[in-house]
Amino acid sequence: MLAARVYGNEDLRLENVEKPRITSPEDVIIKVKMVGICGSDNHIFHGENPFVVLPRVMGHEVVGEVAELGENVKDLLVGDHIVVEQISYCGKCYACRQGMPNVCSHLEALGVHKDGGMQEYLKITAMQAHKIDKSVPWETAVLAEPYTVAGNSTTRGQVGIGKTLVIQGAGTIGLLTLRMAKAKGANVMVTDIDQDKLNFAKENGADEIVNTKNESLKEKVTKWTNGEMANVVIDAVGLPQTFEQCFELVSVAGAIVPLGMSEKYSHIAQKPIMQKELTIYGSRMQSYQFEPVIKAIENGLLIDGGVVNQKFDIKDVQKAFDLMNNHPEQARKIVLTFD
Ligand SMILES: [Zn+2]
Ligand SMILES: [Zn+2]
Repeated sequence: MLAARVYGNEDLRLENVEKPRITSPEDVIIKVKMVGICGSDNHIFHGENPFVVLPRVMGHEVVGEVAELGENVKDLLVGDHIVVEQISYCGKCYACRQGMPNVCSHLEALGVHKDGGMQEYLKITAMQAHKIDKSVPWETAVLAEPYTVAGNSTTRGQVGIGKTLVIQGAGTIGLLTLRMAKAKGANVMVTDIDQDKLNFAKENGADEIVNTKNESLKEKVTKWTNGEMANVVIDAVGLPQTFEQCFELVSVAGAIVPLGMSEKYSHIAQKPIMQKELTIYGSRMQSYQFEPVIKAIENGLLIDGGVVNQKFDIKDVQKAFDLMNNHPEQARKIVLTFD
């Protein structure tokens, strides 16, 4: 079977490898139908992801059909449609005991620490297999994982009815976070420097959009909130400057959720944190978000709506990364298919 494996910076090879076999009674083998390409995959492709161990088959946004089951897996059938959960964890460490298995001391994430979904068949354990109704198109199901990222950040930041939220960045994660926040009842302002992305955010329910190339975000937030400022700020850009800016956009008793993984330093004073009693929430991937996200997708509350706009066969995986790097404006969400 085919597998796309990264060996180093821009060294992506399509290989013929052996199909996985059931070796434990809890194993599930998935025939992969679709894999989304994430910004973090592009970091791996460029050798810039600090967590990854190379060489690696990427892909953590994976959907497919059950092809084979270990003997202990009783709640799934061959042919069931599955959304794959990317993490496996120990269940015993401090993080796991706090209900935060996404930061388990022994965390293993597909496509990062273990080979992921950019291959025709993928072996996972039953705990990682979430069934989704067969009526849901693969293009929508494949957004479940990025939606769990939005579910996690909005849960961490306690986004909900009556709250004002600023999302910095109208890329894929910013956009899915917007839809999630609207589903949770918040008032949402979205910022970017790309007017097309902002217009798409507006079509997708943003109450306010701000082009930070030619408008003062601080002034806009002040006016929008009658001086209260935003109760929650989610930074889906991840630059040192955008993280710094969160502190002047946030209200008293507010929350900041940075999503970037940059190792660059930001310049932040202690005073606003103390004075406004701010909370800064880290948010890494997700914990326990697949079940609510899948239900919301099945109910039509969370949709695709034109986010998945580029498809490539696994054989053309190189072209998919070329598009992502050379024409990012054309790629909201690129997916790989396996037919
Ligand atoms: Zn991702
Ligand atoms: Zn653990």
